[in-house]
Amino acid sequence: MATDFEFRKQVLDMHMSGVIKYCYQCNRCTDYCPVAEVTDNAYNPRQNILNALLGFKDAIFSAEKIAIWGCTVCDTCDEVCPQSIELTEIFKLLKNQSVINGDAPDYYYLQAKTIFENAKAVPPQPAIERRRQQLGLPAVAAPDVNELTTLLKNMGIDKKLKGE
Ligand code: SF4
Ligand code: SF4
Repeated sequence: MATDFEFRKQVLDMHMSGVIKYCYQCNRCTDYCPVAEVTDNAYNPRQNILNALLGFKDAIFSAEKIAIWGCTVCDTCDEVCPQSIELTEIFKLLKNQSVINGDAPDYYYLQAKTIFENAKAVPPQPAIERRRQQLGLPAVAAPDVNELTTLLKNMGIDKKLKGE
């Protein structure tokens, strides 16, 4: 397996002056990870940390989507790691790279597109408004879609949306 030194540097730079180097593969993160447990280790944080540390970029990004996207960011691994490694920071880097590669799960792009077009994760729906009225709650203020769309375009988010 080939080491991608640029990717390895990205990982080391991102993580608190390279604390990830002190991972000694004790497997505690995986032992306590609820997703590893229910997927029978198809999602494996220890393996991700090892591959990231060694710069095995291809192994990470050519694996099944669950290998990166299984993480729910519950932060349990961060809490139990004896080396105080912030694993989820590394996993965020992997997810961001997966999005840039165009390999993230479809639901991720769909959700981003919904926010881009509506300035809300859940678009306004008459049923929700009716329920709010019944409960005596005020109507939800409409977001400024133009403002958010302009902001996201300035950040280049529109170019990362699929089908755009
Ligand atoms: S718990 Fe920490 S030291 Fe142990 S394998 Fe996971 S990242 Fe490495
Ligand atoms: S943050 Fe992700 S990797 Fe860590 S324990 Fe939770 S689901 Fe597992």
